[in-house]
Amino acid sequence: MTQLDLLWEYQQADTEADNMAHSIRQSPKRQKLLKLRDYIRDQQESLKTLENELVAMSDRMDALKDAVSLADDQLKQLQKRVESEPAQTSQQIGQYVAEADQLNLTLGDYEQEIRRVRKSAEDRDRKQRDIKVRAIKSKEEFDALRVEYDQEFKEKSEVLDQLRLAAEEKKKGIEPEYLARYTAIKQHCTPPMAKLLNGQCGGCNMGFPSSVLAAIRSGKQVECETCGRLIIG
Ligand SMILES: [Zn+2]
Repeated sequence: MTQLDLLWEYQQADTEADNMAHSIRQSPKRQKLLKLRDYIRDQQESLKTLENELVAMSDRMDALKDAVSLADDQLKQLQKRVESEPAQTSQQIGQYVAEADQLNLTLGDYEQEIRRVRKSAEDRDRKQRDIKVRAIKSKEEFDALRVEYDQEFKEKSEVLDQLRLAAEEKKKGIEPEYLARYTAIKQHCTPPMAKLLNGQCGGCNMGFPSSVLAAIRSGKQVECETCGRLIIG
């Protein structure tokens, strides 16, 4: 067996191991786990945002209550003033009425805002509860799937280990120079070797000039100029 033949056999074993590694990474269970993990993370983000909004609303509510009691006090003081200094002229009456109207308007605005804030806080409370319920379900689903995936991963990893071992075995007898070539090509092209098929590169189908064909047939190390693969005749 030539070095290229040995390397070709190694490539079969190496590719098989790589395919298994790929199948482990692409496992539908794993993909679903990753999706669930992202979903749970999004839920936690939403909960955090809602919590911050609720804190801000509760602060605003406190401020509004203070403002209402201040306006209430001002209204009471006005009432006392009206009693202790009754209006003498229509101008004074007008002033008292204007002050009272202004205070009542302010109070009305505050009360409207209080109702609005209370309503949004209730909406957020409801949203928060819904998300928490869904988050518990997602977490349960995640944990159950995790157990299944761990089992699958363990089994497939054992197979992968065996395939990697088999590939290592196939390295025996191959000169380091050939293995280094193989590894270097594999960085940008997989699989790194291709057969010569009808005078063309079996990897990318480019035709070779006759001088290159002769070199390939004589067993020289030839790389396809187009795809970079090592060609075996
Ligand atoms: Zn090629």
